[in-house]
Amino acid sequence: MTPEEKRRQLEFYQDLGFTFLFRRPAGEAAVADAAAPDTVEVATPPAAPPPAAPLSAPKLPAPEPVSIAPAAPVAKLVLAATPLEVPPPAMPPPAVPVASRATPQPEPAPKLTPPPPLPLIEPMPELYTLPPLEPADDSMLKIREDIGDCRRCRLCEGRNKIVFGSGNEQSPLVFVGEGPGADEDQQGLPFVGRAGQLLTQMIENTAAKEGIAITRPDVYICNVVKCRPPENRTPQPDEMEICGQFLSRQLTVMKPRAICCLGGTAAKALLNLKEGITKARGQWYKWRDVPVMVTYHPSYLLRNQSKELRREAWEDLKKVLHFVYDEAQ
Ligand code: SF4
Repeated sequence: MTPEEKRRQLEFYQDLGFTFLFRRPAGEAAVADAAAPDTVEVATPPAAPPPAAPLSAPKLPAPEPVSIAPAAPVAKLVLAATPLEVPPPAMPPPAVPVASRATPQPEPAPKLTPPPPLPLIEPMPELYTLPPLEPADDSMLKIREDIGDCRRCRLCEGRNKIVFGSGNEQSPLVFVGEGPGADEDQQGLPFVGRAGQLLTQMIENTAAKEGIAITRPDVYICNVVKCRPPENRTPQPDEMEICGQFLSRQLTVMKPRAICCLGGTAAKALLNLKEGITKARGQWYKWRDVPVMVTYHPSYLLRNQSKELRREAWEDLKKVLHFVYDEAQ
């Protein structure tokens, strides 16, 4: 560039507003850039790095040498930096007073008022008093008086009449059934319904056939429980236990030569038998010192019209009648 051309170029830049325009060597420019980071440099883009030579590049024919004219030095324009207006730092929030930063205290627990004292419960009047078992001067009359209008177990709720027993109180033979049915509850007498009629036939027909001169009034008949269970259900164990004390006293007072248990429930109550009636029937057991024969209940025979069952019942009855009356006659 000729001096004239340089002068024109400088004038051109001065017209544009550039007051400092000079050219620096490359080393000075780097130092100036590091020392004055706040200067803005208008520079040409950096030269691309030279391409890496392949490790084993194929040998190409050598290029034709090209004569390149040296490039004109690039002028670097450095603008005078204007100080940046830095906004003042934001003020920290005002400190919270220590007192106001205190952790919130839990609300005081409400005062517990003691519960009111429990009302005194009056002791329940005794519903009943069990009389002593088998008092020394016991009698059938005393037992009946002790039973009175008995409310010792729940069976009293549905009963109409207490069925104490009937027959000869001095009889050597006592029949013990389970409990009264509807007819017995109405009349206050044991075995007066259909089952009772069958029992009467069994006793009198067998005795007549065996040559034993007795009829039903000659024996005594009673039950384990003296009141009718609702819907003729089986008496509960506790009912049999409570009412059984009267049966026990009756048997003790009468002192029969033998007892005939009618049905499995009576056998269970009197003998605490575990086996069923079909196994237990026809066998001799003992209640205290009294021999006990177990056989079917007449109601069971009415429900099961089996000749075999009836024959077995007649056999059982024959045994007990002969046992009781053979010596006496
Ligand atoms: S079943 Fe016996 S114990 Fe129960 S209420 Fe009747 S008489 Fe009393």
